[in-house]
Amino acid sequence: MFSYRHAFHAGNHADVLKHLTLIATLRHLMQKDAGITLIDTHAGAGLYRLDGDYTETGGEAKDGVVKLMAALRPAGQEPAAAAPAIDDYLDVIASYNPSGTLRVYPGSPFVIHHLMRAESRDRLKLFELHPTDSRTLSANIAQLEAGRQIAVAREDGFEGVKPLLPPPPSSTGSKRALVLMDPSYEIKSDYGKVSACIQECMRRFPTGTFLVWYPVIPRPEAHDLPRRLKTLSNQAQRPWLHATLAIGQDPTHGPDDRPGLTASGMFVVNPPHTLKPVLAEALPQLLLHLGRGRGKSQALESGGG
Ligand code: SAM
Repeated sequence: MFSYRHAFHAGNHADVLKHLTLIATLRHLMQKDAGITLIDTHAGAGLYRLDGDYTETGGEAKDGVVKLMAALRPAGQEPAAAAPAIDDYLDVIASYNPSGTLRVYPGSPFVIHHLMRAESRDRLKLFELHPTDSRTLSANIAQLEAGRQIAVAREDGFEGVKPLLPPPPSSTGSKRALVLMDPSYEIKSDYGKVSACIQECMRRFPTGTFLVWYPVIPRPEAHDLPRRLKTLSNQAQRPWLHATLAIGQDPTHGPDDRPGLTASGMFVVNPPHTLKPVLAEALPQLLLHLGRGRGKSQALESGGG
């Protein structure tokens, strides 16, 4: 069950789509003063070395954040113009790499931490089940000295999120929550667990913002997941947004090479109204810089509400 290690994939095109969408969503939510409960159901290790053993083996960041950074912020040259959401994403990544060389990639817990407000207005709860990754995550989070603002649990995130909803009221009395659900889908049952969990989360807290990442792969469960999430959102009369990014096949790959993951999607229930125009500007630019060959595409659709 635990063969998946996110370190192999850190900073790949899927992380670019996922973390850019997460940042754009958080930016909007943070404009309101009221504190917010942030929940990352599948947190990973938190920080990844881009020059470490895992990434050298997979090297997936080369087709993701490394490529994007090189195209838009070439070393020793003026940065190229980019959509504000891409700039915002690259700024967050650059803040973890003060030397200017990309050595560290922040996973979702550190992306979220970067945008959280201090003064303990916002709370972050992280779930990670893998024994090693959960230990690494706890050690990485401990360095932030965030005290009770950030909590790590080595528990099943699909179950752990439920009692946290609805969130406690903030000092202004309003209840706000964002949930990121980003499983590894290494077991088929993850797809069904995601839709069942989102359904339960929406029942407990219909106005929460729920972000789901999923791989676009030729497997019926993967194909069905966004359809199922649309149906659930429509039935609950909640607005939704669905973004996909496919970088296409690697033209240097031979017919016998394993293609690896070439496409993924983000499904957002109750997205901020600003998210659609922000992604509509960013996605074509992501495709321009990350697209490789046959099958490359991007798409954005919305509905419900
Ligand atoms: N969200 C992270 C990020 O963006 O940086 C990446 C997470 S990775 C795709 C999925 C993680 O979920 C893995 O680290 C895996 O060990 C963990 N995991 C798998 N099943 C889990 C479960 N039921 N509850 C919590 N974590 C789980």
